[in-house]
Amino acid sequence: MNLPDLVRAELAPELGHGVLSTDPDVVGAHSTDQALFCPSDGAVGLVRARSVEDVQATMRFATRHRVPVVPQGARTGLSGGANAVPGCLLLSVERMDRVLTIDPAERTVTVEPGIINADLKSAVAEHGLSYPPDPGSVAISSIGGNVATNAGGLCCVRYGVTRDYVRRLRVVLADGTLTTLGTTTAKGVAGLDLCGLLVGSEGTLGVVVEVTLRLVPALPEAVTAVATFPDIRAAASTVADLMASGAQPSLVESMDRATLQILAEVGYGDVGADAGAMLLVQSDGGGSLAAAQAEVEALGEFARAHGALDVAVSDDPADSADLVQMRRMAQPSFETWAQSHGGGQLLDDVCLPRTRLPEFYDRLEDVREESGLTIAVAAHAGDGNTHPSVFFDSSDPGSVARAELAFDRIMEIGLELGGTITGEHGVGHLKRRWLARELDEGNRQVHRAVKAALDPLGILNPGKMLQDL
Ligand SMILES: Cc1cc2nc3c(=O)[nH]c(=O)nc-3n(C[C@H](O)[C@H](O)[C@H](O)COP(=O)(O)OP(=O)(O)OC[C@H]3O[C@@H](n4cnc5c(N)ncnc54)[C@H](O)[C@@H]3O)c2cc1C
Repeated sequence: MNLPDLVRAELAPELGHGVLSTDPDVVGAHSTDQALFCPSDGAVGLVRARSVEDVQATMRFATRHRVPVVPQGARTGLSGGANAVPGCLLLSVERMDRVLTIDPAERTVTVEPGIINADLKSAVAEHGLSYPPDPGSVAISSIGGNVATNAGGLCCVRYGVTRDYVRRLRVVLADGTLTTLGTTTAKGVAGLDLCGLLVGSEGTLGVVVEVTLRLVPALPEAVTAVATFPDIRAAASTVADLMASGAQPSLVESMDRATLQILAEVGYGDVGADAGAMLLVQSDGGGSLAAAQAEVEALGEFARAHGALDVAVSDDPADSADLVQMRRMAQPSFETWAQSHGGGQLLDDVCLPRTRLPEFYDRLEDVREESGLTIAVAAHAGDGNTHPSVFFDSSDPGSVARAELAFDRIMEIGLELGGTITGEHGVGHLKRRWLARELDEGNRQVHRAVKAALDPLGILNPGKMLQDL
């Protein structure tokens, strides 16, 4: 029996009605995330799990027949991690999207993995609680996907990344075993930190079917400062000084000249033609308005010392929301702009020590010159996490080749400056070659051993993050 027939004959009866689809159009439409240059052909079926049992049945089937399985959340990933591989089953947990419990005393929420980050935030807000991690995709990405990629976001500079909030995971292993990793309690050191191991494992070690997250009291209102500079180097130097001063801002975002020009062109905000860079800083002062104001004033001093063109402060929530929205619109504007400029955009995600940011931007100038391509950089600057976007003409093989070279060169520079190839988007298919370059041999050995222990048949998301180690 061929694989699609086997799937229909053996797996379908174990799943509820409407859970499995082998319709090529449906399967094809669910075969990719948001990354470019990553293959996505060859899936034989799509399982849209409604329950833990559906996930277990799928993994047992996959183990019996050595079928690759690609776990999927909302497919907003930017590295091809959720893309199909030949002969695979796509295992989507998007429909498992319930809030199971909110525990105000323990300050935790337990959810199914398919819930969208913003929906979880709304649910806990009703209890005066907050779940801080806020990737740019907050309104479209799932918590399971956030856990599997250890997603970051804008407020990480003060409040940390997804990993800092995960207390307990329930995970279906490659052979279908359901296990609980971690504890819901505030403290817990029993055994190895296998819960931490699963965070950021990109679907290569198990399928996350339930997540318990730590919550914090509702976040205080923030004071916002915006500074413009003649160039991005000055903005980057300001960030390094601000962070070295002991300040604890809740958001530090930067946009370079190319980003500001694209935003203005697409119609999402115009800060004036003189501005070569913009820095957006928020501070909530941990709930103290005076502390927040002191921090943004300190920013003003550092910014002026680095030649800022203008510094403005606002404690009006509507103004602040508009400014943050402008930053959030950077990626959508890039997508719009790319459509009328050759169609291609490769989005990088290099994270650097903050003090090396000015040098990074200097060296990026060389990449621009060498490639002859537009490269725009929006950054979670307070974390040193840059997102250079390389634009190219997707119909011109020469332009495509130069874009790929520029993309690689950016990661190379990142490593040379003591950074990492990915701060938050993950490795997936896109950067799998580069992971081997970043990790030393001892580290690669441990990766291989962990993978062999948890997924001896190599059926969980093969061809992705761990492929080239
Ligand atoms: C406009 C835009 C802005 C973005 N901004 C940010 C940002 O600021 N910060 C950031 O970190 N990312 C950002 N991203 C990237 C993306 O949204 C994140 O990587 C997100 O965490 C992916 O979630 P998802 O539900 O879409 O997962 P998917 O794309 O479906 O999957 C991502 C990876 O996780 C695995 N996976 C998914 N669900 C599970 C599960 N239940 N169990 C095991 N493995 C699973 C998949 O196999 C895949 O490897 C952005 C994306 C877009 C489109």
